[in-house]
Amino acid sequence: MSNKRDYYEVLGVSKDASAEELKKAYRKLAIKFHPDKNPDDKDAEAKFKEIAEAYSVLSDPQKKARYDQFGHAGMGGAAGGGAGGFSMDDIFSQFGDIFGDESPFSSFFGGSRGGGGGRRGVRKGSDLRIKLKLTLTDISKGVEKKIKVKRYTACQTCNGNGAKNGTALDTCQTCKGQGQVRRVQQTMLGQMVTTSTCPTCNGEGKIVSERCEVCFGEGRQLTEDQISIKIPAGVTEGMQLSMSGKGNVPVRGGVPGDLLIVIEEEEHPELKRDGQNVIYDLPVNFVDAVLGTDYEIPTVDGKVKIKLKSGTQGGEILRLRGKGLPNINGYGTGDQLVHVNIYTPTSVSSDEKRALEQMRNSPNFQPQSNSKGRSIFDKMKDFFN
Ligand SMILES: [Zn+2]
Ligand SMILES: [Zn+2]
Repeated sequence: MSNKRDYYEVLGVSKDASAEELKKAYRKLAIKFHPDKNPDDKDAEAKFKEIAEAYSVLSDPQKKARYDQFGHAGMGGAAGGGAGGFSMDDIFSQFGDIFGDESPFSSFFGGSRGGGGGRRGVRKGSDLRIKLKLTLTDISKGVEKKIKVKRYTACQTCNGNGAKNGTALDTCQTCKGQGQVRRVQQTMLGQMVTTSTCPTCNGEGKIVSERCEVCFGEGRQLTEDQISIKIPAGVTEGMQLSMSGKGNVPVRGGVPGDLLIVIEEEEHPELKRDGQNVIYDLPVNFVDAVLGTDYEIPTVDGKVKIKLKSGTQGGEILRLRGKGLPNINGYGTGDQLVHVNIYTPTSVSSDEKRALEQMRNSPNFQPQSNSKGRSIFDKMKDFFN
């Protein structure tokens, strides 16, 4: 009836070829003419379709019998479901059957494979996001935290497939396990085939006829896991770390999502972070500033003693090298900057007042910075350069 080539000829096999031989022949030819290997080659694409069509008929015992008896004439029409209405989705569907997840091709006609997470794709569960509060001390050294996370894990009773006692799932009768339903319509332009996700099984191709009683057919359960998280030193507020595979398991099996850990910095009562440096405001007794003394101050790594030399000026910045925070990539460690604030008493006793009045006009108490031409402002500029 047409100039269509004989299906056996297309696949290069004899009429009594076994199912295995057919599969082998198809596989070999499909790889050879696959569009991924022959980009923009219309002949190869036509060949590829021809091969796929031939295989779809010869691999189906019913269609094969009809073809053997009537030839191409037996395949036409909507009822035949063969040649005429053969769509690319069908090709892909059987391609998946042949190659499974080991398909040698990454894409199929520019990614038509994706189409609503078809049943062949590996499903990934949702990610979980948690906030983790860390102190500056945690951040300075890195820390290992044990946290409790509520997440979906595979149901132990059904091993995650949702069926009672983990028995095998049944093939969906609506789509015969294809995950898609096909509608063939006669239009003025000929047959039109539309495919859509099977409404019965949501495209999974399989259904749970008797549900697992523990997870109600979901294949997963909400569990509380204790997870140990290693936080590297030097993390910053808002930074997101991820632990792959520690998120939720999807419904009825698949790859779990990730656990995302968002870093929050707990405010230190006395220290302020400035990038890798840590800033500390040190209120200094005016007499201590004049005479000098030792001060004990907090750092991210506990208290340390610093020496305040005599004649320390208000606004001076003392630098404690290496007492800041490490770079997360290991490029050095910041400093702690101690800002000296001379504390001025707000009230004094009459004795104190008398003593201070005696010093008021002493030459040593007259500010010197301006006459020496070096103000605190200049010194600070030096400091930051
Ligand atoms: Zn279960
Ligand atoms: Zn279905």
